[in-house]
Amino acid sequence: MKVIEHLLKATEPLISFELIPPKRGGDIKSLLNVLDDITKYRPPFIDITSHSAEVIYEETPGGIQKKIKRKRPGTLGICALIQNKYNIDAVPHILTKGFTREETEDFLIELSYLGIENVLAIRGDDSGYSKPIPQGRSANQTACDLVKQIVAMNNGRYLEENLLDARPSNFCIGVSGYPEKHFEAPNLKTDIRYVKDKVDAGAEYVVTQMFYDNKVYFNFVDQCRQEGINVPIIPGLKILTSKAHLINIPKNFYINIPDDLADEVYASKPEHVMDIGVEWAARQVEGLLNKNVPSVHFYIMQNSTPIKKLMDRLKLFKQIA
Ligand SMILES: Cc1cc2nc3c(=O)[nH]c(=O)nc-3n(C[C@H](O)[C@H](O)[C@H](O)COP(=O)(O)OP(=O)(O)OC[C@H]3O[C@@H](n4cnc5c(N)ncnc54)[C@H](O)[C@@H]3O)c2cc1C
Repeated sequence: MKVIEHLLKATEPLISFELIPPKRGGDIKSLLNVLDDITKYRPPFIDITSHSAEVIYEETPGGIQKKIKRKRPGTLGICALIQNKYNIDAVPHILTKGFTREETEDFLIELSYLGIENVLAIRGDDSGYSKPIPQGRSANQTACDLVKQIVAMNNGRYLEENLLDARPSNFCIGVSGYPEKHFEAPNLKTDIRYVKDKVDAGAEYVVTQMFYDNKVYFNFVDQCRQEGINVPIIPGLKILTSKAHLINIPKNFYINIPDDLADEVYASKPEHVMDIGVEWAARQVEGLLNKNVPSVHFYIMQNSTPIKKLMDRLKLFKQIA
């Protein structure tokens, strides 16, 4: 089922999850254990991130060597498992960076054969490597370009014109939104205009970057509505679990950690930080659900312990079965 249908048909709050594939050569077993843990909570859909190749410098006896490496392949295989073994709707992320439009089309064809009906169209971060585009091939630049390509396929228009018997694909397309603005955008208003472009191009819902203060989410939603964005905006949350997160999360995701949360974490013993993060996230979920937000998305990546604690804690509110 499409994400948008899940949202429309929901009779109770929906909690969805996002996972990251293991590093190249890594064992899938631990991710399968995470899947076993989280499927108990009946998520309507599970997102799997995607990763393009990046530049890595390695020190070797012959000097420093530059290598181009795709650290985390596996999005397609994991999505196939989620969709067809766990019978949960998989949402693969599709990137513009690092992939030609031709590769994207092939990927979308593989997904449609697997019965996957949802994708999150994302530009991807600058990995320091810009893949050369072979002659005769082309590349999307922004996430909006990618949305347009998928919409074209949904209308039966593939890259090769005059394909005989071209079947329209049937993807529900999600895109990103940044309540504290994307780091490259000059301001939130401009950034939201580009979200509007993605929605006007055919995106059916938005998932937000993580935030730790619900006020920034509600402000973002208000501004999006004023701009004429009327699709669902799913809040994305990440449970803070370590003191290092106080530095890494703002550094990597360009978001703010509120004073109260940071002060509490700084003052606590390391072994208590996860409980503080779980309690904070529980209160965020409570605040969102109390304002009739129908769905919350958790970035859990590869660790199910904090989300299990949170789901136990949330039962107190009797809002989630
Ligand atoms: C929900 C979510 C999931 C993610 N999943 C992944 C993942 O799986 N893999 C991964 O590598 N990264 C992922 N990311 C991170 C994402 O790749 C980065 O934040 C990236 O820098 C931007 O991607 P985007 O799709 O938001 O880009 P876009 O929507 O294309 O926007 C990027 C920037 O360009 C600006 N912009 C857009 N259109 C124009 C235009 N026409 N002219 C000028 N400026 C413009 C925007 O304001 C913004 O500053 C995810 C982020 C989120 C929020």
